[in-house]
Amino acid sequence: MPDPPKPVGAPEPLLSLPKGPDSGTWESNIEGAPGPDSGTWDSKSQGAPGPSHLGTGETTPIAPGLYVVATPIGNLNDITLRALDVLRSVDRIACEDTRQTQKLLNHYRIDVPTISCHEHNEDARARELVEALKCGARIALVSDAGTPAISDPGSRLVAAAIDAGVLVVPIPGANAALSALVASGLPATEFAFLGFLPEKSGARRTRIEELAAGGQSTASAAPRTLIFYEAPHRIHETLADLESVWGPELKLVLARELTKVHEEFLRGTVAEVRRELGARDRVRGEITLLVEPPLKSAQGVTLRSAEKITDRVARIQAESGVDEKEALKRLARESGQSKSELYRELQRERARRK
Ligand code: SAM
Repeated sequence: MPDPPKPVGAPEPLLSLPKGPDSGTWESNIEGAPGPDSGTWDSKSQGAPGPSHLGTGETTPIAPGLYVVATPIGNLNDITLRALDVLRSVDRIACEDTRQTQKLLNHYRIDVPTISCHEHNEDARARELVEALKCGARIALVSDAGTPAISDPGSRLVAAAIDAGVLVVPIPGANAALSALVASGLPATEFAFLGFLPEKSGARRTRIEELAAGGQSTASAAPRTLIFYEAPHRIHETLADLESVWGPELKLVLARELTKVHEEFLRGTVAEVRRELGARDRVRGEITLLVEPPLKSAQGVTLRSAEKITDRVARIQAESGVDEKEALKRLARESGQSKSELYRELQRERARRK
């Protein structure tokens, strides 16, 4: 959800019970009644602190501490039973935007006071909340959507709580990066989450070039997926930068509006995805981008796959009936590498085969 600027409001009392305004429905394709009442759960696997009866709608005592609670990224049903019980059981919920969270709390009929904790007040708020935590408060931390601290406020409060010796408990759940990754079809054993790229075009391009320069080597690694968050109004520029650095064949998945009515995955090369988006009037919604950068040979030459340059040159020659020089020229164009670099790598491969 694009974030409105967060006003730093008057301090809110930590342990008293004022209620925020009812601000209507959470942005979701799910309307209606709260999730099912799933009765009493008596699992022995519940080791971590938290309510002992899950999903009952009742509040149960939980250990004092800071609970880092994931909330839905669109579909209101994407919240765990444990998260709901924790939200019901805490003294206060620290929110990135209290109005946004209030929609979720209204939906699940959770009547717990909220307090703001956002980018602009997190340090001051962390000091206050940690004082309350030290006195035995139970506080939940949530962001507008997904997992707190992941490209969202929260990590400074968590660090302050840890420094103060306070119990910190993760309550896992929705996250856009992982949701996109698992349905992308790209390698998921190794991946790097890189958050938002810089907004300014020069800095963004430099960052992408750095990522390309530091790419992984075929000698040492399995393919790795890079995951970025991106705003819809910057998507065309970002895709253009990705293409100009890694070439049109870069494998990419654009995941849009995950868990919502208009959820969409565009899978293909960066050139194909750009063509598809270019044909649309406007690109809307929330976007997670995943790319699978080409592997590099041990000598630093970028390869589209683990395929050897010798084989790729031979394939281009066979497919197009061109000589080796022309095939190298085409490969250089395709991979974004210089012809002489590719030629040197070709010679090295041949030497190794002897
Ligand atoms: N903390 C959140 C999480 O755990 O995913 C991310 C918060 S970050 C401020 C918001 C960005 O996450 C959006 O700009 C978008 O890039 C991505 N995002 C959030 N919800 C999404 C969704 N439903 N579909 C695709 N991307 C999403």
